[in-house]
Amino acid sequence: MTRPFVFITRKISDNVVSMLEQHFLVEMWCEEEEVIPRELLMEKAKQADALLTMLTDKIDEELLTQSPYLKVVANLAVGYDNIDLEAAKKNNVTVTNTPDVLTDTTADLTFSLLTATARRIPEAIDYIKDDQWKSWSPYMLAGSDIHHKTIGIVGLGNIGQAVAKRATGFDMEILYYNRSRKQDIESELGVKYVSFEDLLNRSDFVVCMTPLSKETEGMFNREVFKQMKDTAIFINSSRGGVVNEEDLFKALESGEIKAAGLDVFQNEPIGADHPLLTLDQVVALPHIGSSSLETRTEMMELAARNIKQVLNGGKALTPVHI
Ligand code: NAP
Repeated sequence: MTRPFVFITRKISDNVVSMLEQHFLVEMWCEEEEVIPRELLMEKAKQADALLTMLTDKIDEELLTQSPYLKVVANLAVGYDNIDLEAAKKNNVTVTNTPDVLTDTTADLTFSLLTATARRIPEAIDYIKDDQWKSWSPYMLAGSDIHHKTIGIVGLGNIGQAVAKRATGFDMEILYYNRSRKQDIESELGVKYVSFEDLLNRSDFVVCMTPLSKETEGMFNREVFKQMKDTAIFINSSRGGVVNEEDLFKALESGEIKAAGLDVFQNEPIGADHPLLTLDQVVALPHIGSSSLETRTEMMELAARNIKQVLNGGKALTPVHI
């Protein structure tokens, strides 16, 4: 009997590949930087029992309906906005993600981005490297304080809660908005539930940690930025699609908000000519929220274990539910 075929859409750890090879026939798109061409992905998916995918792969209805053997798509991310869940369900394909293992790493990066943006750290690094530091001066590269300020977290899920824990260490007041209130954890975390409008009006830092969905797409638009303080700093390390980038540019350029720290963009990768990069008050990162060696390895292992479970007839460890 031939062994089930697993196709991996980007180069991942040799150890994880070996772990899969003990049970399955495994092939991998061996590029680290380049997305697999759509045609090749379609061709491999047609033969595959399992796909280990990246957030850059579009797993849509066309692919799912043309992949007769496919049983599981294990996405190397907690977000799954690149996968058509309805089509997966219709085609009896289990979808898995990598929650929890990346929570603290992404929260660390989100809080670092907040700190870097508030205290203008990238500008300060360039200042020295460009040989501009000629003397000490009272307001040289003066940024905004973080301690004792108010942080508003939109989407207090796993990562949002881990961001709240970090904010506690900075003696911040912590507000949050979710569709459903999380009363059971409020006192332990020291967070207050408020309406979206209240959060926008009161926060010095507005941090978005929601998934990208039909509901959150373009949620941060001009009207929303107008409701923030003109000293507010907007941080997004969820998904670029939650922001209307043209509106964000206008809000920053016209001084409606003060600064933005962005780990994610509407169309990734962005080029150096992206309008937001022309603004000194924008700190931009290339979607590295969960990118630590330890966490990326754990994510790969979890994705592989999900594949093993499903192909061996068991239940996925971290299935995505519709
Ligand atoms: P999670 O535990 O599912 O938390 C998501 C939170 O968002 C939930 O509390 C949810 O609460 C809330 N939410 C959903 N829809 C909302 C809406 N319309 N308005 C307000 N709140 C809403 O997920 P997580 O593990 O924290 O991850 C969150 C997201 O971060 C992921 O989906 C992913 O896109 C992104 N992420 C990015 C990186 C990176 O590299 N930058 C890394 C990891 C994750 P309710 O359902 O009650 O509204």
